[in-house]
Amino acid sequence: MNKETGAQQPVIAVKHLKKIFGENEVLKDINEEVYDGQVICLIGPSGAGKSTFLRCLNLLDKPSAGQVFFEGDELTALDDQHLDQLRQQMGMVFQSFNLFPHKNVLENLKLAPMKVKGTSEQEATQLANKLLKQVGLADKAEAFPDNLSGGQQQRVAIARALAMNPKVMLFDEPTSALDPEMVGEVLKVMQDLATAGMTMVVVTHEMGFAKNVADQVWFMADGYIQESNTPQEFFAHPKTARAQDFLSKIL
Ligand code: ADP
Ligand code: MG
Repeated sequence: MNKETGAQQPVIAVKHLKKIFGENEVLKDINEEVYDGQVICLIGPSGAGKSTFLRCLNLLDKPSAGQVFFEGDELTALDDQHLDQLRQQMGMVFQSFNLFPHKNVLENLKLAPMKVKGTSEQEATQLANKLLKQVGLADKAEAFPDNLSGGQQQRVAIARALAMNPKVMLFDEPTSALDPEMVGEVLKVMQDLATAGMTMVVVTHEMGFAKNVADQVWFMADGYIQESNTPQEFFAHPKTARAQDFLSKIL
């Protein structure tokens, strides 16, 4: 679904987004939309600005210019209090899992719903157990992060983000820090989420995942989204020399 069909407003819309660090113009002019249920895979060379872009979507990084909209609300125009409320609707998962090391898995999952949303302990526990089951870790509720493998920790991190019942999940290279044999179990959880209809923006170097799961691939380089296309079209017929060069190096 897109704007031309007129049926639906995008969940996320970005208009003339620019991000400058000092003299370094990282994002020059980004204009994109994400629709309900879409899975976007954002790919591109290291240093292209993919993480910066993702952080600009929930204003963890403040755009230097341009606008970010979430379900029609302009995030770039909100005060901190209203921004926090909308931010809760965007779950984020990073390369490093960032679990609370002194809390067990269940506590990691219960913390934000209880603290931020005022969910009762009983309800938070129920939800946490349901989510642990969903990511295949029902038996790890009492475990501490240090005693889990990287793949298990990342699945806990995904469950923890889901515990806030977000409308969108943002993933920044969620499998890049994992040993190869653990990549699959995390991608599987993400694929299941996609199948269940979650709207997702995924920065990844996993081209198999992009091919199989993405609705759209965005290729970012030199401060712009150079190409935005279906994975079938993008991987078979990259249009720009920049994308052809990138793909020739990684495929
Ligand atoms: P990618 O995720 O595509 O590898 P990043 O978004 O991490 O790229 O970084 C893009 C560019 O922005 C890099 O040149 C990086 O050094 C710079 N950058 C990122 N974050 C900051 C920051 N907080 N301060 C200064 N420069 C930054
Ligand atoms: Mg990055």
